[in-house]
Amino acid sequence: MNNNIDEKQNISENDHRRIGKELDLFSFSDYVGSGLALWHPNGAIIRGEIESFWKKEHQKAGYKYVYSPVVGLKQLWEKSGHLDHFADCMYPPMDMSLKDKEEQGAYYVKPMSCPFHVAIYNASVHSYKELPIKYCELGNVYRYEASGGLQGLLRVRCITQDDAHIICRQDQFMEELSKVLDFGFAFNKVFGYDKFKVYFSIRDLKNKKDKYIENEPVWQMAEQAIEQVLKDKKLPYDIDVGGAKFYGPAIDVKAVDENGKEWQCMTIQLDMNLPEKWGMSYIGEDGQKHVPIMLHRAILGSLERFIGVYLERCEGKLPVWLSPIQVKILPVSDRHQEQALQIQEQLLAQDIRAEADLSSNTISYQIRNAVKKKIPYVIVIGDKEIENNHVSVRLRNGEQLDDIPLADFMKRVSAKIKNKSIDL
Ligand SMILES: [Zn+2]
Repeated sequence: MNNNIDEKQNISENDHRRIGKELDLFSFSDYVGSGLALWHPNGAIIRGEIESFWKKEHQKAGYKYVYSPVVGLKQLWEKSGHLDHFADCMYPPMDMSLKDKEEQGAYYVKPMSCPFHVAIYNASVHSYKELPIKYCELGNVYRYEASGGLQGLLRVRCITQDDAHIICRQDQFMEELSKVLDFGFAFNKVFGYDKFKVYFSIRDLKNKKDKYIENEPVWQMAEQAIEQVLKDKKLPYDIDVGGAKFYGPAIDVKAVDENGKEWQCMTIQLDMNLPEKWGMSYIGEDGQKHVPIMLHRAILGSLERFIGVYLERCEGKLPVWLSPIQVKILPVSDRHQEQALQIQEQLLAQDIRAEADLSSNTISYQIRNAVKKKIPYVIVIGDKEIENNHVSVRLRNGEQLDDIPLADFMKRVSAKIKNKSIDL
């Protein structure tokens, strides 16, 4: 199935797939495979900006960035429990005709990054003083979602998870849970989300008992701890029966938009099961080995879905810091092109993504085109502007800044970028 828009598809004006095509952000190809998004240069800018911001904020919050491979051996996924509990969502193993199959066996593409982060942790001995250790990664994970359920960026098979694992002691995990919630709320607020709904995700013991790792006392302890954190933070919550992961209960947070629609953003999973299974340990104050507790968490969910939802929410009118082209410069006629290029240079030098339109189209056509592309600022350069080194700017919201010094305009745009302002 192709997720590209064809004329026959009846999708709304504001569907992110339509916006993605109009702004040339991403596409899907039958030759590549269903649910595997291709990010075009404009879409890559949006992703890149969010990724850089994400990495910077995580670094400030004490997370360490790591990289891990996309594939892992069958034995790894057996040990991790994924082949027992998660195989339905995994891509089938790679061709067994691999040269070294006798020695190593099959490889699977990763549906989660957890076992890799665990392997990084297990590569050295840790003391209680080092904990919590927080590994983060914007890793591509692959999940073989049913083709009928694929829907543009909202449901894909190659998922960029904004993943992190917090490895901590028993006396730390409640505080860490609380910190993740605060961190996630603050991060999402930058994108204009300020209403959230919290779910406490527990097991569905009636229908899916087999889905979960068996260890009743540990499950109960984990569930009580989560409830306590939610109560201490005075966060109202609903119970989501069946929302727990196979290794532990979770807090799932959804952002609520103006129309009351809920969008999954944060998930924090408390895992008291896998660390022992995976041979994780630290040396305690008593000189003995102890098993740590692990939190799996994502604060955006996946970059694909986050961007898809965000595009629909802002109707493609991205804030300046995320706009692929921030300023379009339109020369009134051929003789103004040189000046347009000079302004482009000056803006680029200030890290403002600017582009001069040197096509031979009429100025009104060029303006229409810039409006269609939802570019925040459009500068028109004619004789008058060249004479006094001023610019006339048309803002995306229809406002007009006539005849202002170029330096003032640059200052304004730089400030909007720096502050990640929603307004222009
Ligand atoms: Zn994980």
